[in-house]
Amino acid sequence: MMKTFSVETVVSVLQSVVPAEERRVPLHEPVFEGNEWLYVKECLDTGWVSSVGKYVDRFEQMLCEYTGVKHAVAVVNGTAALHICLKLVDVQPGDEVLIPALTFVATANAVHYCGAIPHFVDSSQKTLGLDPVKLEQYLQEIADVRTDGCWNRQTGRRIKAVVPMHTFGHPVDLDRLVDVCQRYRLELVEDAAESLGSYYKGKHTGNWGKMSALSFNGNKLVTTGGGGAILTNDESLGRLAKHLTTTAKVPHPWAFLHDMVGYNYRLPNINAALGCAQLEKLPKFIERKRSLVQTYLHAFEKIEGVQLFTEPSFAESNYWLQVLLLDESYKDHRDELLEATDRAKIQTRPVWTPLHRLPMFQQCPRMDVSLAEQLERRIINIPSSPNLEAANHGEA
Ligand SMILES: *Cc1c(COP(=O)(O)O)cnc(C)c1O
Repeated sequence: MMKTFSVETVVSVLQSVVPAEERRVPLHEPVFEGNEWLYVKECLDTGWVSSVGKYVDRFEQMLCEYTGVKHAVAVVNGTAALHICLKLVDVQPGDEVLIPALTFVATANAVHYCGAIPHFVDSSQKTLGLDPVKLEQYLQEIADVRTDGCWNRQTGRRIKAVVPMHTFGHPVDLDRLVDVCQRYRLELVEDAAESLGSYYKGKHTGNWGKMSALSFNGNKLVTTGGGGAILTNDESLGRLAKHLTTTAKVPHPWAFLHDMVGYNYRLPNINAALGCAQLEKLPKFIERKRSLVQTYLHAFEKIEGVQLFTEPSFAESNYWLQVLLLDESYKDHRDELLEATDRAKIQTRPVWTPLHRLPMFQQCPRMDVSLAEQLERRIINIPSSPNLEAANHGEA
């Protein structure tokens, strides 16, 4: 028997999966149960805390092994990683960069840091990320492909790149997007900040873009406190990324020689130490998150009006943040549900405000983004920490 929708029913189902005790159930908290103390202590004991040290190298090497991308450069955060990716695919001041309307603000900020203009694209129902089919139809209407790239007929500006974002770990349809990029002469940069551990057709995300960005912020699946990484399969771009994020310092035993305006973006060794210990645990975290999906699916299957969002058929997702999707007919209950879960000491969140509605991006060009608008009213993130499933199964 299906239970009819009510805010109380949804809250009680959540309580059955993630009971709040004296402590609030957080949306996502980091789990340190491996070699974190050991590695960080070693940094302190040896004095190697800053941006040169063995953990930085080891962290980068582990990222390459895990993702299958050839070169990784560890940086201070995911936003800085995106900034450098965009610079290195030659996004110039006055260019436009296509990004989803529904993403974290960092994607648009990084475009702005390059002096470029974000151009917003609608979402896909299947992935919650940028929709390559809608994008192609839209480009047919507004873009001219010339030998010198893709031009927006309406604004007269060059459209240089596309930055898809793998929302809450769910990969966008990369093959279709690569095809659109090739036909429209657009550079592809993946914002893979949320998709460490997510695979598209068996291959790790971050392998399709000419460059890709990861984030290791405190709320991500793997954290270094704060941190990020630039990924690329292109050796010379990898070398340039490392150079540009190390203040463009020319190697020399003592002289301060810099051959371009660089950035102080490298990740300190002490943060990388944390990252190495966290990466060792990543397969375990993902196993638990994928198991939590099953628990939630089972719990919500008999409740009318809400659905747990599951990975698209071509992908294997890390399920970074679990998504409860309200049916269109119940979308007006979103805020009530957010308030009721808050009272029940279970942390939930709405999705981001679509970026074209933020004051600094309101004037930016965009296509019809009605699905992004609709999804905003229907998405609720529910507790997703990797330690939740362990607790459910009585694991230590
Ligand atoms: C976390 C995140 C980033 C990067 O964030 P930082 O806090 O700078 O590491 C970028 N894009 C998206 C979509 C993110 O979720």
